[in-house]
Amino acid sequence: MASQPETTCDESSEETIEVTESESALETARQQLYHAAEHLDIDSNIVERLKYPKKVHEVTVPIERDDGTVEVFTGYRAQHDSVRGPFKGGLRYHPDVTRDECVGLGMWMTWKCAVMGLPFGGAKGGIAVNSKELSPTEKERLTRRFAQEVRDVIGPKQDIPAPDMGTDPQTMAWLMDAYSMQEGETIPGVVTGKPPVVGGSEGREEAPGRSVAIITKLACEYYDWELNNTTVAVQGYGSVGANAARLLDNWGATIIAISDVNGAMYEPGGIDTATVPSHDEVPEAVTEYADNTISNEELLTVDVDVLIPAALGNVITKENAEAIDADLIVEGANGPTTSTADSILADRGVAVIPDILANAGGVTVSYFEWLQDINRRAWSLERVNNELEAEMQAAWDAVQSEFEQRDITWRDAAYIVALSRIVEAHKARGLWP
Ligand code: GLU
Repeated sequence: MASQPETTCDESSEETIEVTESESALETARQQLYHAAEHLDIDSNIVERLKYPKKVHEVTVPIERDDGTVEVFTGYRAQHDSVRGPFKGGLRYHPDVTRDECVGLGMWMTWKCAVMGLPFGGAKGGIAVNSKELSPTEKERLTRRFAQEVRDVIGPKQDIPAPDMGTDPQTMAWLMDAYSMQEGETIPGVVTGKPPVVGGSEGREEAPGRSVAIITKLACEYYDWELNNTTVAVQGYGSVGANAARLLDNWGATIIAISDVNGAMYEPGGIDTATVPSHDEVPEAVTEYADNTISNEELLTVDVDVLIPAALGNVITKENAEAIDADLIVEGANGPTTSTADSILADRGVAVIPDILANAGGVTVSYFEWLQDINRRAWSLERVNNELEAEMQAAWDAVQSEFEQRDITWRDAAYIVALSRIVEAHKARGLWP
């Protein structure tokens, strides 16, 4: 099994930090599925089905480099389950992209959409390429050629990609344009996370970080903690981490540590997050602005109320789970906690709010974008943020109710909400033929 690369849902941060325990996204996703299924009286045939993707498309993507040579890359689109609606999920450009990684991440998208009650299934795609080594024109050629290769299997009613690691709103604009040119009409709903000028939604880029902040606030309320007396450490100061940190800072929390690939800023008295540029504003600037620095590994074990891993996958492992000193972990990245670490944290009584709930603001605003594209009517930022808040509250309430009724972790509670909805839909639709 391939070792687990970063699995951030942060659509712009491309930080890489050495991780020790290797567990592939697919292994983690399957372990989590079995674990949650144990708590539910569900048809084992449906669980068996959900272990596998519906289809995985593998394509070769040849491009002419700027020096005139031709290079061929491998791309994937793993479509996991579509019982509740079209496939939905990001497209990542990263050297470690593999078929299995796309399948595991696609499974998480199925649960994420279901826990949010969105009418989508789950998918994930990617191209095994180091996007930092591509010029903008090479990246554009790669994206347009990939769009052509997967044209038959994507579309607003079939499968709707979005940004992920190494891709951004511009990448989505190229993908939309290439698809639309071939179809002979402008079809903005084929992708989400586009720039607003071509049908993107206001508030989409900030949405994953905003949902992390909203869920952190709701979790603090649940545990009767005043945000004013709550300390927070955020690993990864890209789009997810910086947006979450700044909102929580505005709402009264004290952010004591933030990090990027070079290390972490540590200010026990509190960081003024507005004055530290995020990875999108000035890449890798955190340590340059810091008076006190600690390592990324030390950030994970600082004495803090809330830890938000918002950079990459597999950072909380069996090696460091015992040393985590936070009472609450809110997962900003996709898959930051390995299954072994998850059990250790559960035994130690550390609450972990899972990625499929915490960072689901991204795909939720993607859903709003898709609705706006279909209706050809843009929403105001205020409307997007209000509706996002309402959706996050509804998902939180559903998960909290499972959490309170059963003696389980927050992750299992979120999986139970998601799985129950998916299983009911499978039962209602039945197996064809
Ligand atoms: N890549 C993001 C995620 O992991 C967003 C997916 C989407 O908006 O479709 O949630």
